[in-house]
Amino acid sequence: MKFGFDIDDTLIDLRRHAFHLYNKKLNKTIGEDVFDTIATVEIHEPFGLTNEEGSQMWKDSMEEIYFTNCPSFEGAKEVLNALAEEGHEIYYITSRPKGYCEQTRAWVKAQGFPVVDERFYCGMADHEKIDIIKNLELDVYVDDKPAVLNTLAGSTTKVIVKNQSYNQTVEYTRLTSWDEFNKLVGYASV
Ligand SMILES: [Mg+2]
Repeated sequence: MKFGFDIDDTLIDLRRHAFHLYNKKLNKTIGEDVFDTIATVEIHEPFGLTNEEGSQMWKDSMEEIYFTNCPSFEGAKEVLNALAEEGHEIYYITSRPKGYCEQTRAWVKAQGFPVVDERFYCGMADHEKIDIIKNLELDVYVDDKPAVLNTLAGSTTKVIVKNQSYNQTVEYTRLTSWDEFNKLVGYASV
């Protein structure tokens, strides 16, 4: 089977990692209880930043957010490695900026995820992911962003939403823990 995965906030806990970095950079100690209630993909609001300031803060911190020690979600690597070992095709589809794609692929590999170079798609806009997913004829695709998930409605790909505070209203099969993945896709052998 062909399995596709978004990376940020689907396989790795990027926003939380960025939230900790923001605390450090801005000399704040805002708690994870606040983080857990943020209703937007963007994380700047609890820091009292305007949308413009928040967007600039993200851009200025991007390299540090992407390429330091962001943890992956528990069980994610194990699930993907088990699928790869059983001969399934693993695709990554990330809308990280083009300039960071090569470094991102190397970083994802270094974390221990199974990466085949030509199955790593990067640098597209969120709304362009659908074209790649359709062309690849993915059986399953997992993402966290409502803006992406909503473009996939009606596609033949089984769409799974990685549970996050900002995607509670979308109605797809919901993954709250990577341990549940095989059960959710109806794939019982791993
Ligand atoms: Mg994402």
